[in-house]
Parts: sequence; C-alpha cells; structure tokens
Amino acid sequence: MTAQIIDGKVVAQQVRDNVAAEVAKRTAAGKPQPTLATVLIGDRPDSAAYVSSKGKACQELGMGSVSHHLPADATQEQVEELVRSLNADKTVNGILVQLPMPSQINEERVLSLISIEKDVDGFSPINIGRLAQKGRDPLFVPCTPYGCIYLLEQAGVKIEGANAVVLGRSNIVGMPAALLLIGKNATVTVCHSRTRDLPGVVRQADILIAAIGKTEMVRGDWIKPGAAVIDVGINSVPVLNPDGTPAISEKTGKPRQKLVGDVKFDEAMEVAGFITPVPGGVGPMTIAMLMRNTLRAAQIQQGE
Ligand code: NAP
Repeated sequence: MTAQIIDGKVVAQQVRDNVAAEVAKRTAAGKPQPTLATVLIGDRPDSAAYVSSKGKACQELGMGSVSHHLPADATQEQVEELVRSLNADKTVNGILVQLPMPSQINEERVLSLISIEKDVDGFSPINIGRLAQKGRDPLFVPCTPYGCIYLLEQAGVKIEGANAVVLGRSNIVGMPAALLLIGKNATVTVCHSRTRDLPGVVRQADILIAAIGKTEMVRGDWIKPGAAVIDVGINSVPVLNPDGTPAISEKTGKPRQKLVGDVKFDEAMEVAGFITPVPGGVGPMTIAMLMRNTLRAAQIQQGE
C-alpha cells in the first residue's frame, strides 16, 4: 500500500482563503477589521519568527495585527498589566501570548487572565476545561490540534468509532488533540515517555497523532496497515552527503539542516492509508486555524 499524502499547504490555503473572503465581506459591510494582538516576551529567535509570521498572516488575510514586545526580564506585573489592557481594548479581538514564556513568568496565571472571548490560542483553563467536558463547547480550540483534526476530516478519515493513539500529552498538542478525538467519538489512548510497549500500542491505531518531538521515532512496522498518520513533530537534522558526511551549504559555509517529523516517513508511506508530510503537513495548519479563531473572536464579540 502507498499512503495518500494529506497536503497541509493546500488545506491551510483553503482555510485562509475562506477567512479572507469572510473578512472582506465584513469590512465591506462597514464592520471593524478582526484584529489579533500578539505578545512576545524575550528574544527567542524561534518565538520571534512565529510571532512575525502570525502578524504577516493577519495582513495577508485583511485582518489587523498589533504586536507587543516585552523584554526577557519583564515582570509578572508587567505582563499581566499588558494582558489586562488588551482585554479592555475594544479594537483587539484576539490575544496571543507566545509560549514558552520566560521562567520568571507564571504562565498559568497569564493564560488565566486572557478574556475567554479573546483567547484565540484556546489555552485558557476555561476553554480547555470546556473541551474536556462532555456536552460543553470551548469558544476556541488550540490551533495545532484543531489543524490535525481538520486535516483528518478533510481527508475523509472516519473518526467516530476509530481507535486513535496520541503520542505525547503536552498542554499545547497531545492533550487537546486527545480531547478533540474523544469529542468526535474516537476511542483514544494517550502515550507518553513512561508508556510501555509503544510500538504495540501504536499498532492498534486506526488514527495516529504523533507529537513527541523525537526524530523519526515511529517506524513503518509500528503502523497498522491503512492507518491515518498525522505527524506533528518538527525536528531539525543535518543533511548528509551520500558518503554519510554532513553536507555543507555553499552559501553560508555551515552544515545544512532539514526538517523531519516524529514518523519515519518513507517507511510509513508503505503501510499507512493517509499521512501528513513534514514539512507541509500540520505546520501550515497552525496559523490558518489561528486566523480562523481570530475571525471567530470578532464574530463572537459582535454578537454574531
Ligand atoms: P513537549 O511539550 O516536549 O511534549 C512531548 C510529549 O512527548 C510529552 O508528553 C512526552 O512525555 C512525550 N514523549 C517524549 N519522548 C517520548 C518517548 N520517547 N516516548 C513516548 N513519549 C514521549 O512537545 P510538544 O510541544 O507537544 O511538541 C511535540 C512536537 O510537535 C515537537 O516536535 C514540536 O516541535 C512539534 N510542534 C509542532 C507544531 C506545528 O505547528 N506543527 C506545533 C507545536 C509543536 P512526558 O509527558 O512523559 O514527558
């Protein structure tokens, strides 16, 4: 069997196009531009890059964005004061405080402070609590797991009644992904670093979501034939020459790097029914779902 590749770039573009069309309709009708406020604390280059690509996506979709940058030694009070002012600001529809926050900041307190109607990242305890309760709906679902489920649905994978295995139990990917799958009536097993016989558990999965951050750990012979495999992992590895030595970039003179997932793609391709590539699978979905959540925030705040 050769798996069908689920192209996250294509699906993410469709989501973005739909959001852009809806935003254009709203602004043509004289409604304010949906606007996202981002908060970056410190100078982590990866966080700065994520925040900047979120602002860029807002622009591309006709939405507004404001970015706030606090120094790495910002105090809890400074961060909380900023969040309170963004909660009160009627021109701001969504608030995203980029994670991870520096160690002196109590992340949980900051996330709890974000108004539930502006919590477009979906990490406030109220949104997560609602996700965990039967019959309750969160206002916003965390963007990466939301993207994973959206990809499965777009590919036509049947979630109801499926055996789903989620590798990883982080607050931002694994746990919310598991809760979403339960909400869609899958039977879910969540694995973590203390799980025994991981290959044996994964072999039961009709749907596998891998979010452990371990380079190509899931091998082809772990996968049930025909399973749908969603690879969330993003791992940077050196590019090797045919003789096994590191390839050097002609431009920079430095060793070349490439991104791979948590799943050994070539092996999994031979067994799975569906698979997401890395890059180009889940990655582009995260920002697309954030844009969707920001539009939704504007709609909720306008009483729609
Ligand atoms: P994380 O917070 O480091 O959590 C990793 C999880 O994997 C933990 O629950 C951990 O178990 C489990 N784990 C680690 N090693 C394991 C092993 N050998 N066997 C079984 N379980 C193991 O990571 P994360 O933030 O969820 O991210 C996971 C991956 O997704 C990373 O590669 C990250 O870069 C990527 N990611 C991608 C996107 C995207 O937009 N595509 C977004 C977010 C994250 P314990 O709980 O027992 O420690």
